Amino acid sequence: MPSSASTTTTFRTCPLCEATCGLKLTLEEGKVTRVEGDPDDVFSQGFLCPKGAVLHHLHNDPDWLRAPQIREGSTWREASWEEAWARVEEGFAPFLSSSNRNAIALYLGNPNVHNFSNSIYMRPLIKTLRSRNLFTASTVDQIPKHVSSGLMFGHPRIIPVPDLDRTDYLLILGANPMASNGSLCTAPDFPGRLKKILQRGGKVVVLDPRKTRTAKLASEHHFIQPGTDPLFLLAVAHTLFAEERISVENIAEHLAGLEQVKAWVEPFSPESVSERCGLSPDSIRHIARALSEASSAAVYGRIGTCTTPFGTLTSWLVDVVNVLTGNLDQPGGAMFPKSAHSRHRPNAAPGGRGFRTGRWSSRVSQKPEVMGELPVGILAEEIETAGEDQVRALITVAGNPVLSTPNGERLSRALKQLDFMVSVDPYRNETTQYADVILPPPTPLQHSHYDIAFYDLAVRNVANYSSATLPRDENQPCETDILLHLIRLFSGQDSSVPLSFVDDFIAMQLVQGEIGAEDSPLSGRDMDEILSALQPHRGAERVLDFLLRAGPYGDGFGANPDGLTLNKLMEAPHGIDLGPLQPRIPEVLATPSGKVELAPESMGEELTRLQEWHNKEAPSLQLIGRRHLRSNNSWLHNLSPLVRGKDRCTLLIHPNDAADHNISDGETVTVKARAGSLQVAVEVTDTMMPGVVSLPHGWGHNQAGASMQVASQHPGVNSNLLTDENQMDRPSGNAVLNGIPVTLQK
Ligand code: SF4
Repeated sequence: MPSSASTTTTFRTCPLCEATCGLKLTLEEGKVTRVEGDPDDVFSQGFLCPKGAVLHHLHNDPDWLRAPQIREGSTWREASWEEAWARVEEGFAPFLSSSNRNAIALYLGNPNVHNFSNSIYMRPLIKTLRSRNLFTASTVDQIPKHVSSGLMFGHPRIIPVPDLDRTDYLLILGANPMASNGSLCTAPDFPGRLKKILQRGGKVVVLDPRKTRTAKLASEHHFIQPGTDPLFLLAVAHTLFAEERISVENIAEHLAGLEQVKAWVEPFSPESVSERCGLSPDSIRHIARALSEASSAAVYGRIGTCTTPFGTLTSWLVDVVNVLTGNLDQPGGAMFPKSAHSRHRPNAAPGGRGFRTGRWSSRVSQKPEVMGELPVGILAEEIETAGEDQVRALITVAGNPVLSTPNGERLSRALKQLDFMVSVDPYRNETTQYADVILPPPTPLQHSHYDIAFYDLAVRNVANYSSATLPRDENQPCETDILLHLIRLFSGQDSSVPLSFVDDFIAMQLVQGEIGAEDSPLSGRDMDEILSALQPHRGAERVLDFLLRAGPYGDGFGANPDGLTLNKLMEAPHGIDLGPLQPRIPEVLATPSGKVELAPESMGEELTRLQEWHNKEAPSLQLIGRRHLRSNNSWLHNLSPLVRGKDRCTLLIHPNDAADHNISDGETVTVKARAGSLQVAVEVTDTMMPGVVSLPHGWGHNQAGASMQVASQHPGVNSNLLTDENQMDRPSGNAVLNGIPVTLQK
């Protein structure tokens, strides 16, 4: 919509966090000069946060690599794409010619799920790589929720989200959406949605060892000892049974395991867990009663509940309480989104193959595979330990595990031992400094966008597609082509095979899978007819068009002519609203029984382990993490508007603990844990629970090999020097980043 000869306005979805806000961008002379919230966006309605407002700074960042980099010893030089690919092929050649694909590991960072192409092409890359050594950021902070959902609902990606816009009572555990804008719950303007709960007379209750911004907004905040959320939730469930407040009528015929859960929670009275949790029995009963009496209620647990020794158990208990209070799959409760691109099987019987883990184990410490990946905490040992299948080469895509995964110091040392490493990444950062070749992607404004991952977690069913805002630089390949190049290499094809052939093959396989599925509405349809209907789209757009048209709102390739297609979505720059969440049980269930499995056997084993843990004495001082509105893990610290001002990388400590350690505000202390130690300035504040200290993650930009000018001026310290790579949630392999025993020294 031109407003002057050289000024135009365009719209796109923000790719920087899970909230998927619509942005309005002003372009002058072909440059983005202003980013605002899009008031007409069907989901975000004008909201944006300080990160979205500087999206164009990311595009203009002088440290964003504009050409491949090749390392020669300790120096780097710019290379052409041809030369870089030749080096990549040469580096991987010894591993491709042997039958040992496990020698190549792949690490995928969190930004991959925010990237349209990577969301689509990562699966073919993993498939063609054929290595069991797959690691992702999921095992840093979210895989417990996938596992609990897999056990209860049969599929790890069937995750209920709090129906924020209709709930009357929201209980938040271990989450700070005022800073994060939500996670595993896509809700642009999460803060505004919380305020609306309060405005309509509802309640927001927060349990957290820190009085966060969300806790300050809430109707109630209760301090809770780190890692004790499962004890609290068990006591809530105990109270619900003891006071005959169970209400499962809404899904009774689709529910298995209620009596077993009753037996399991019996020993966990509020009195028995009160001291360990740091909450009075009355407070626990008060919350249990409020949850059961609210006309609608939802329990929402996030990072703080996943990054503990009982992450899966806690994630399971969140949904157990949602079931017991009659709030699973009910408006205002915890509901299952139905995205436009999701699998569509309207006539299939409920149930499926269910969810399994442990199809293979890691080589050194025998950790079970979960969702095809291994815990990132064991990546260093797989590199360091000699023997068959030792990891000798690594690919990282959009990841900085030296800063974001446990015991970053050990991982740094391990990366130096690799024979070959390639990073697909825009920066030479604390991790990619060890690569032999860095392949930079285009900037976020130079590629199209659709949130494959997050519309499956959205509090309202919506769809929004954005075209690239700016053209790519000369010679810069798109992300799809970078990944197709790797896919071609690992599938054993040489460069005489055009990338377009590889892409066609991927599209054909996708279509073939759907028309060959008996319960698909496309079953038996003609492949050529469908492929021809997808023209002229190619790459990620072709895959998206197929998913949308085969999806629950799609045109079914002619069966529902008014249905959704990518072309229709392209004509809707503010997105398409597909309505509020609807009850989906039983069609959403993929367990072999076709029921919600309330009492998975493995959770019984975890309860035994929890009892043992409960009987041990709690550490006298424990470390937790924290999130800031202007940060997203480690990725945005090279943008001055987001890092300037007061140092945010400080250790928060309660005044009593500061006095006990003879520490004053602003002093530097040494923090020690089993894995390592660091020095950091303290900030004395009564927002901390006594006995708990807090340090943010994603910092530590003080390494000479990295090349990020702004970040290096605001280095902070790497909290993952303190986290222990050997501590993890047993069922999921998730890292333990909260409740770390530490000592302080002035
Ligand atoms: S809340 Fe998230 S999606 Fe919205 S503008 Fe901020 S970073 Fe972007």
